[in-house]
Amino acid sequence: MTNETLTVRSDLFIDGTWRAGKDGSRFPVLNPADHTELASFAVASVEDCDDAVVAAAGALPRWSATPARARSELLRRVFELMTSEAETLAEIMVSENGKAWPDAIAEVRYSAEFFRWFAEEAVRIPGEYRNAPSGDKRIIVTHQPMGVTLLITPWNFPAAMAARKIAPALAAGCTVVLKPASETPLTAAYIVDLLDRAGVPAGVVNLVTPRPVGPAVEAMLAHPSVRKLSFTGSTEVGRELLASAAGRVVSASMELGGNAPLVVLPGADLDIAIAGTVDAKMRNGGSACTAANRIYVHSSLHDEFVERLAGRFAGFALGPGADRSNTLGALVSQKERDKVATLVETAIEEGATLAFGGPGGSSGCFYPATILTDVVHGSTINTTEIFGPIAAVVRYDDVELALQLANDSEFGLSAYVFGPEGDAVRFAARLESGMVGVNRGVISDPAAPFGGVKQSGLGREGSSDGILEFLEVQYIALPA
Ligand code: NAP
Repeated sequence: MTNETLTVRSDLFIDGTWRAGKDGSRFPVLNPADHTELASFAVASVEDCDDAVVAAAGALPRWSATPARARSELLRRVFELMTSEAETLAEIMVSENGKAWPDAIAEVRYSAEFFRWFAEEAVRIPGEYRNAPSGDKRIIVTHQPMGVTLLITPWNFPAAMAARKIAPALAAGCTVVLKPASETPLTAAYIVDLLDRAGVPAGVVNLVTPRPVGPAVEAMLAHPSVRKLSFTGSTEVGRELLASAAGRVVSASMELGGNAPLVVLPGADLDIAIAGTVDAKMRNGGSACTAANRIYVHSSLHDEFVERLAGRFAGFALGPGADRSNTLGALVSQKERDKVATLVETAIEEGATLAFGGPGGSSGCFYPATILTDVVHGSTINTTEIFGPIAAVVRYDDVELALQLANDSEFGLSAYVFGPEGDAVRFAARLESGMVGVNRGVISDPAAPFGGVKQSGLGREGSSDGILEFLEVQYIALPA
């Protein structure tokens, strides 16, 4: 990809070398703000993917034996490089993902923090020593790197989702093959280039972009060297990959879809609730697995809540992220834009009222900030991950019923509660959700365990748990 300021890799990275795929084919990467072609990216064949796995397997013995301090310092160097090149990486994301500038630059800073955090965790891998209660042995528990790891990431946070996997995998001593989303390979290529420039040895990080994706990923999971799959994406694809991983009993971590409830309790401070709802709904233009998808507001606060939320939504400037003053960017593709538009139309057919916003004409993949009220619990928009700037509000009268409605979902990634702190914390504890924000709308933090329950996933990323996903426990028994 080139424009006046950017030159970005658009090839595969295998065993420390940038190269085209063996069959020479390429696919276009588009800018969703204006449908222009940004780059033509190399397609990885099944054979190229096999090369990547072989390279990762070849690099494993040396990398896993590299002292933790050396691995840590390399990751720290990546943090520093990413921080100093933050604007360039943000520009790439704006171009290929469509997100607004404030979202892009915030994502780069968040991504860099994973390298800093796991640089610190690399040297703190835990172990245990104890005497057996029977007195006949000593018990030593250590953690070993799992080995070659396949990382598959989505388009919505193309930098952060890659960073949240690569950093702990490398900190643990694993080598990786990264398969980014086909909409956003340029961000992945930039991060891989940055790892290379930081001094990560050849073969430790490899990048492949297979099309079609299914057979190539199947083949990699069938390869005897691959020991770990770490996937972030939809629950639908996650289910398929779990089935494929079962073939060789490959360990799998899954960060899947969400359908986050946001509950405004009686007595909530509306200044806090509105600010938190704007964050929880509109961060990344609503294209977040943690986005507030179902907003339940107590009837005592409902009308004022909607009026004030509309006031805040009116302040969003919709337009290309290349203009840094815009605060709501494009959706990633025409398909996603049409999906969001159809969800709004269907919601209205199913009884919802358009309270603010709505379609609006536009040449790119844009959709304005929109509020729907009278949304019916169980309707299509209430049970579908919206992934766009639509606040779908349900009015309720009874707090116990609100709890039942909030828990009435196959998903359990994140949830939000606004209200007097004691009430909100008690409510939070009864939510079936891996993460809950109480009186705040942004919960992600590299130091906190990110992950879901029910069909939202298996395992955790970030925090001290994140590195454990890439480590095997080994128990050594010694004579007493
Ligand atoms: P997706 O369609 O599931 O794709 C995710 C990744 O899986 C992409 O790299 C995609 O590659 C790949 N993929 C698709 N079909 C595959 C197959 N049959 N075999 C192997 N790989 C396959 O998800 P998305 O639309 O990119 O992302 C949105 C979803 O991600 C939402 O559901 C969101 O909630 C979820 N998400 C979850 C989290 C979390 O932490 N829980 C974070 C962010 C996003 P191609 O692009 O080449 O098709």
